Amino acid sequence: MGKQLIHVVIGGGAAGIFAAIRCKTQNPSAQVIVLEKTNQVLAKVRISGGGRCNVTHACFDPVKLTQNYPRGSKELIGPFHRFQPKDTVAWFEERGVALKTESDGRMFPTTDSSETIIQCLIHEVSHAGVEIRKQQRVESIEKKEGQFLIQLENQQISADSILLATGSSSWGHSIAKKFGHAIVEPVPSLFTFNVPSSPLLDLSGISVPDVIVSLKDTSFKQQGPLLLTHWGFSGPAILKLSAWAARKLHQLDYKATLQINWLSIPNQETLYQNLLQKKQENPQQTIPTLLPSNLLARLCKSLDIDSTLSLGKIQNKALAQLAAKLYSDPYFIEGKTTYKQEFVTAGGVDLKSIDFRTMESKIVPGLFFAGEILNIDGITGGFNFQNAWTTGWLAGTAIGNRICKMGM
Ligand SMILES: Cc1cc2nc3c(=O)[nH]c(=O)nc-3n(C[C@H](O)[C@H](O)[C@H](O)COP(=O)(O)OP(=O)(O)OC[C@H]3O[C@@H](n4cnc5c(N)ncnc54)[C@H](O)[C@@H]3O)c2cc1C
Repeated sequence: MGKQLIHVVIGGGAAGIFAAIRCKTQNPSAQVIVLEKTNQVLAKVRISGGGRCNVTHACFDPVKLTQNYPRGSKELIGPFHRFQPKDTVAWFEERGVALKTESDGRMFPTTDSSETIIQCLIHEVSHAGVEIRKQQRVESIEKKEGQFLIQLENQQISADSILLATGSSSWGHSIAKKFGHAIVEPVPSLFTFNVPSSPLLDLSGISVPDVIVSLKDTSFKQQGPLLLTHWGFSGPAILKLSAWAARKLHQLDYKATLQINWLSIPNQETLYQNLLQKKQENPQQTIPTLLPSNLLARLCKSLDIDSTLSLGKIQNKALAQLAAKLYSDPYFIEGKTTYKQEFVTAGGVDLKSIDFRTMESKIVPGLFFAGEILNIDGITGGFNFQNAWTTGWLAGTAIGNRICKMGM
């Protein structure tokens, strides 16, 4: 028998806890310690998904799944072939937690409570024998003669390997940098747009099921439901656009022109011809209910068109103007507002320095990474937790195996 190896996970979030359980289950003889700086683990799981925890997404094709990650899509192909949403669902179900799928693919515990997920993970932590030490802020880490020396406030721990799972904290980034990893500048992702000059602010609460939103003079474009808010625009289409264009919008100081194609019709001329045809076929009718009536009335009013008039009384020139507006309606974004259901950081540890078979650093053997500390982020819908489960599982597996090999 060799000496008992000590593995330390820094950060008690989804990635760190999942990795610790996996590692200890792989090799029960190892000592696995989670160091968490606050007085509670899984704090973000608790508040996630509006308290319901959107655990993962019902997308079971690894390649399609990666298309939901503005950063990390290429690198996650391999990992998702090894641990994907199907495995997440099975993992929780084997432990008595059933998940349900909503119409948009988001998966939640059937209890609609994040506590169910937390209780399951905490039960597994204690069942496996993982040691959790709370209120343990790691101050610094050195590597000497193959050992990691972890400096806490009043104590030093020596570890054979380390998993950095500190989420978006700048401290985690600075430690990774100290060990030679490049850091991609962290910027926010998943936010809504502030449009103080929008004439639609008082229509807050109206939702339009299918629009195309784009940023003028860029190639960023997304499709989906749009929500009018009292500060501007939100809803899945906007959140997706904010994620894909997170870096560009940061560079523009969150000032840009949003273009809304209200009907998702890809061609302005087709839209105009449709309106003309309706007018010819039925001149007594008003403009067809293409959109919620108060929204349509407001868009028409901005063009001096009375939406209550019958089509026969509206000149073709005005219909052409309406088609142009419905096809590409500009609004000036002047800032962002955090989306409280889910927000993440784009940026973090550069992926080039990570071996995605094991999540081990290519620069420092024995140093592993998982979760949001990496330059990986998904759009809203459960993809960010899936990244935490997958990278945590891979790291836990590799560390468990490493302990086996070295401990024999
Ligand atoms: C409000 C909100 C709702 C969300 N809802 C969802 C959702 O429903 N579905 C989804 O997929 N994603 C959601 N997300 C995103 C998801 O929560 C994160 O992507 C995920 O939690 C990342 O997990 P992690 O373990 O990498 O990091 P974290 O969960 O951030 O955990 C990192 C841990 O490290 C600890 N730590 C940091 N520095 C130190 C240190 N020096 N020493 C010791 N410990 C340290 C922190 O205290 C923390 O506990 C949401 C995010 C937010 C903010």
